[in-house]
Formats: sequence, structure tokens, C-alpha cells
Amino acid sequence: MNNEENLVSDFRLRFEAAEKKAGMRMVFSTLFAFALFDLNLFLLYLLLVRYETMLAPIRAFVSSQTDFVAGIGCLLLSCSVFLLASLIPILFLRDQIKRARQIPPFKCPHCQNSVAKEKQRNVVQWTGYCPLCKVKLMEGKFASTAEVKEHSEKIWKTEKRVVRFSWIATLAGIPIGIAIYLWSLSTAEAAGGTVRGHWAIPFLTLVIPVMLWGISKFSGNEYNATIQLFHEIENQT
Ligand SMILES: [Zn+2]
Repeated sequence: MNNEENLVSDFRLRFEAAEKKAGMRMVFSTLFAFALFDLNLFLLYLLLVRYETMLAPIRAFVSSQTDFVAGIGCLLLSCSVFLLASLIPILFLRDQIKRARQIPPFKCPHCQNSVAKEKQRNVVQWTGYCPLCKVKLMEGKFASTAEVKEHSEKIWKTEKRVVRFSWIATLAGIPIGIAIYLWSLSTAEAAGGTVRGHWAIPFLTLVIPVMLWGISKFSGNEYNATIQLFHEIENQT
């Protein structure tokens, strides 16, 4: 066994161990980010409760607007609270992804280039080839484009199912939103106030399926990269 073959067989072991480690790390980071998000929402809620009296002029301003404008304002406000609460978790996750890319085993032993990006790592795992110098590094998960296509089709169908399910869950959530809407109207009336724009409450649940749809749009392009790499390798031989 010459030196390069040795390096390549080492690569497989190190790559698999590093992949496992990076995967675990991402799972924990994601869980932590979600916890952070919940904590932020809770802190924002506490702030709102603490400085409730300061909100009186805003409430008066909202009440002076038409119902439609107030509702749009309510939607925008909720979206900004949502974004504000997710800002720190997103920055944290980005940092974690960056750190995961610096793990040394994700370096091709042949061309010395880093294959640490999520997409490139997947391509290495699936094809067994380095996507940059197209040298075989290890046994890939898939042997041909047909297998990749079959697998990606399955993933794509699952994603579609998740998005569909979240839409159904959201539509089911709208009656709950309407119930909260009616309840908020009655409490506002009982308090003698007329806070407008409460019609926006049932629509707030729409944020989740729109987000999931966005995520599913961004994922899946490494399948194309994998198929393309297979084509290039098949053309070479
Ligand atoms: Zn390479």
C-alpha cells in the first residue's frame, strides 16, 4: 500500500468519525438554539408586561387607526418580535456551522482542499468521490445516479408531506385563533377599550408553514451536485 492509499483509507475513518461528531454537535446546537428562542420570547413577554404602562400611547395610536391598518400593524409587530427573538439563535447556529467546517478531517487527502461545507460533505458521503479533484476517497452510500434519484425522490416526498401537514395544522389552528380573537374582543370591551386590528390574530399561525416551505426550497440542491459529479466521473472513464 503506497502512501496515498494509506492517506485515503485514513481519510475514510477520520471522515466518518468527524461526520458523526459534527452531526451530534449540530443536533445539540439546534436544540440549544430552540431553547434560546423560547427564552428570548419569554424575556420579551416579561419586558412587555413590566413596561405595560409605557404602551398606553401606542395603544391609543393603534385605536385611532382603521381596523385594517391596526391589523397589519399587529402582524408586522408580531413578525418583528419573532425575528428579534430568533436573531441570537440564528447567529449562534451560524457560528456553530462555521466551527464545524474547521474540523481538519474534512480535507481531501488528494488535493488538500477542504470539503467541510455541508453540501460537499454530503456529496463525499454519497458518492465516495472528492467533489473538487474527483478522486475516489471511499465507498459511497450510492453507487449510481439512479440510486441517488430514487433516494432524493423519497426525501422530497417526505418534505412535501411535512409542509402539507404543517398547513393542515395551521388551518386547524385558525379556529383556535378565532376563539382567541373573540375572547380578546370581549375582554377589551369589558375593559371599556376598543383595541382594533384583532382580526390579525388568527393569521399569526401562518408563519410556521411559510417558514417550513422556505426551508424545503433551500434544501435538496446537493442531490443535483451529487448527480452531476456522478455524470462527470462516468464521462471520465
Ligand atoms: Zn480532492
